[in-house]
Amino acid sequence: QGVVRFADVHFAYIPERPILKGVSFEVPAGHTVAIVGPSGAGKSTISRLLFRFYEPTSGRILIDGQDIADVQQSSLRKIIGMVPQDTVLFNDTIGYNVQYGRWDADAEEVREAARLAQIDRFIGLLPESYDTPVGERGLKLSGGEKQRVAIARTILKGPPVLVLDEATSALDTFTEKEIQDALDRVSRGRTTLVIAHRLSTIIGADEIIVLDQGRIVERGTHTSLLDQG
Ligand code: ADP
Ligand code: ADP
Repeated sequence: QGVVRFADVHFAYIPERPILKGVSFEVPAGHTVAIVGPSGAGKSTISRLLFRFYEPTSGRILIDGQDIADVQQSSLRKIIGMVPQDTVLFNDTIGYNVQYGRWDADAEEVREAARLAQIDRFIGLLPESYDTPVGERGLKLSGGEKQRVAIARTILKGPPVLVLDEATSALDTFTEKEIQDALDRVSRGRTTLVIAHRLSTIIGADEIIVLDQGRIVERGTHTSLLDQG
């Protein structure tokens, strides 16, 4: 479940300036594929197309063989979970932020998600701290703590496909390492597309795709790419 396939995808925000020029790749179910490349290469555009924020000019994007052009955006959000670069939380309780979109989850599920995301380490064990408000009038969370809340929310939603768009790039290196560990746990066994910023975020990837000026210029495993220099 959760095979993602880009088939000869072309895309331009403005007609005279193509951004993706025939991108094809597949993320097999349960695998992790990382997309790397210079700033402006089109990496985030790939994740925007996957969420149908934009439609390809030509080519197709398929999940489990179904063209996402035929899938409502609201349905896509149940299939694809996203941990963005910079999480913006609701000015509400930690519980609200974790459970957002999964109001039917029971206490045990919430606790397990919090444990995997290691929220419990900084706010004490849930559900005691579940009602702690965050934001302007409540607890001030660091960037790493916000990312953990976002990760817990994603775990709770349990989507078959996960998109990590430079999810640790706004963090310092020490926090990055901790959050990366949490992300590795979350992505295990889930189809994961990593939009990568630093090499450290792609060590666990099954395949690495190098994108440059909207084209795939290189692909391989971590070791095969490093061996080539
Ligand atoms: P990356 O994630 O690899 O840094 P992006 O996918 O964000 O690259 O952007 C690829 C190119 O598309 C960049 O040149 C960027 O300026 C351009 N771009 C991004 N968003 C828009 C937009 N909404 N309208 C026009 N051009 C855009
Ligand atoms: P950017 O590279 O500018 O962050 P993205 O295409 O990665 O652009 O996503 C734009 C924003 O939309 C993200 O930062 C995120 O907050 C939001 N977003 C994307 N996917 C989802 C989703 N499934 N559910 C809720 N918000 C989302």
